[in-house]
Amino acid sequence: MGTISIIIPAYNEEDNIQLIYESIKKEFTKLAYDFEICFINDASTDHTLEKIKQLAAKTPKVKFVSFSRNFGKEAALLAGLQHAHGRAVIIMDADLQHPPFLIPELLRGYEEGFDQVIARRNRNGERTMKKLLSSSYYRIVNKIVDVKLEDGVGDFRLLSEKAVRAVLSLNEGQRFSKGLFSWIGMSQKIIDYDNVLRENGETKWSFSKLLNYGFDGLISFNNRPLRICFYTGAMILCLSIIYSAVTFMQILNSGIDVPGYFTIVTAVLILGGIQLVSLGIIGEYIGRIYYETKKRPPYLIQETNFMNGAQYEKNQPRIYQIRHNRGNQYL
Ligand code: UDP
Ligand code: MG
Repeated sequence: MGTISIIIPAYNEEDNIQLIYESIKKEFTKLAYDFEICFINDASTDHTLEKIKQLAAKTPKVKFVSFSRNFGKEAALLAGLQHAHGRAVIIMDADLQHPPFLIPELLRGYEEGFDQVIARRNRNGERTMKKLLSSSYYRIVNKIVDVKLEDGVGDFRLLSEKAVRAVLSLNEGQRFSKGLFSWIGMSQKIIDYDNVLRENGETKWSFSKLLNYGFDGLISFNNRPLRICFYTGAMILCLSIIYSAVTFMQILNSGIDVPGYFTIVTAVLILGGIQLVSLGIIGEYIGRIYYETKKRPPYLIQETNFMNGAQYEKNQPRIYQIRHNRGNQYL
């Protein structure tokens, strides 16, 4: 029935590599598909790469790409999509928070003809504060961005060949995968599952990283935040004109009233704040333009056991060549 590629970004996951391999293998013994696992080692500082290599030495089903430095999970996902050559790909985390027992169900969705089969988790076991923050975040962000970002929906999903091509055709450098997956649309099926806590190691998401990720989601898709700055400015301008007119009339009627400390300080502070926030948002967009114009590769490869370009051209069917030409960054 063909090969399914499993893409797994891994950063300091030495204790999870063997575990996740075993659990994926177990699932596939029940299925009519073959599988390959494509580990993306995001320059781990522990023994993750050695663990992957040990597996790769034992079975050709394990492939890996190892980055020259830590480029982040988004770059790892991109590398995975560019290298995997199964007829469909499944993206999952290395920490077993994306339960492998859902693989058969994802594949069932694929057989039904869906291009994206998405696993959606609930937030059981998370702290109330985090739950509250994320649900309000999604409520706000969905009003602003023009793609739908759903709570509990992440990278854990199956993408058909067509969907992979679509995601790879979006060649922005600053990638926000969650939004890109939503942006491409296509037929989708959602599978719900219970939140699983991390098996080994610890999360790489600090509060500030989460905050930045949230901000990325907000401004990656359109210029609506800039519009909001504009409308806020326009609204304040109107209010100021009305206020000035009223004050002027009062002066005409009853002369200049000297005390005005509160009004002045409030006006200066609020206006100053709004201006700084607006400048920050504009700056963020300019920053993105700056990075995009540099056209730097999103990642560099230190080491891989995927075949190199020349071998692809000689031995592989056309589809592999096309995938290769999508721009792999070999050092
Ligand atoms: N990850 C990565 N590069 C990084 C940080 C994380 O490839 O710089 C991988 C990590 O190994 C894991 C996945 O991304 O497989 C999700 O990371 P994590 O579990 O820390 O995130 P969380 O589940 O807490 O959102
Ligand atoms: Mg995790």
